[in-house]
Amino acid sequence: MSAYDIAAAAALLDRQLAPLSLAERLALVGGLDGRSVFTTSLGIEDQVITAAIAAHCRGIDVVTLETGRLFPETVALIAQTEAAYGLEIRRYHPEEADLAAYVAQYGLNGFYDSVEARHACCGVRKVKPLARALEGASFWITGLRRGQSGNRAETPFAEADLERGLIKINALADWDIETVKAYVAQHQVPVNPLHGRGYPSIGCEPCTRAIKPGEPERAGRWWWENDVKRECGLHVPEATPIPARASDKIATPA
Ligand code: SF4
Repeated sequence: MSAYDIAAAAALLDRQLAPLSLAERLALVGGLDGRSVFTTSLGIEDQVITAAIAAHCRGIDVVTLETGRLFPETVALIAQTEAAYGLEIRRYHPEEADLAAYVAQYGLNGFYDSVEARHACCGVRKVKPLARALEGASFWITGLRRGQSGNRAETPFAEADLERGLIKINALADWDIETVKAYVAQHQVPVNPLHGRGYPSIGCEPCTRAIKPGEPERAGRWWWENDVKRECGLHVPEATPIPARASDKIATPA
C-alpha cells in the first residue's frame, strides 16, 4: 500500500475501533486481510491483550523481544503465559554480532553514560529485533494507553506507521489502569509479580526501577535521563497525516 492508503486506512480504522470492546477490536483487526502481530512486553496491559487474543482471536501472532536484559520474573512469565493460554509467544533476540559491536563501543552498561548510547542499546536489543518480528505484517497491535504518560496522552486506536509500512493498533488506548486491573482480576490473568513491588512499567532490569507514590507510571524507566520523552524507539510518536478522503475497503472483516 502507498503511504496515502496506509494513512487513509488507519484513519478509518481509528474511527471504527473507538466504540468497540477489546474483544471486538481484536476480532476486527484479526479478521482483516494481512498478518497481525501483537508485541508483548509481559506488562499488565499486554497480559490483558494476550488473554483476550487467546479467548477471542487466535489468528494474531504473539511475539516478544527477549532483549537479554529482562528481569527473571519477566522471563518466567513468558513460559507461564504460554502454558496458561496454550499459545506460543515467539521470542525475538538481538543479533550476537550487534551485541558484540555495542559492547566494544560503549561497554555492556554503556547506556547509563549518554542518551546516544542508550538509544544504541535499545536499537540493538529492541528496535532491530522488532523489525524482524514485524516483517510482512500489516497490523501491529500494542498495549499503549493514553494514561501511561503525557507522551502517550494522544494515543489513537489506529495510526499509520509509515516508516514500517503498517498500521499500528493501540487496542487499550482509552483504558485506565483501574479498568486494566479489574480485567486481570475478573479473568485471573497472570501478571508480573514486580507490579506488586512498585513497578507499574517494566522493561529491562538495569533500566527500570520502582516508582515512588505519586510518580507517573513510567517514571521508573531510564530514570537517570532528564528528557521527559523517554521511549525506547519502538513507539516514537509521529504526526500521522489524516487524508481528506478515506476508503472503506480496508477495515472490513474478512
Ligand atoms: S532498556 Fe536498557 S538494557 Fe534494555 S535495550 Fe534499552 S538501554 Fe538496553
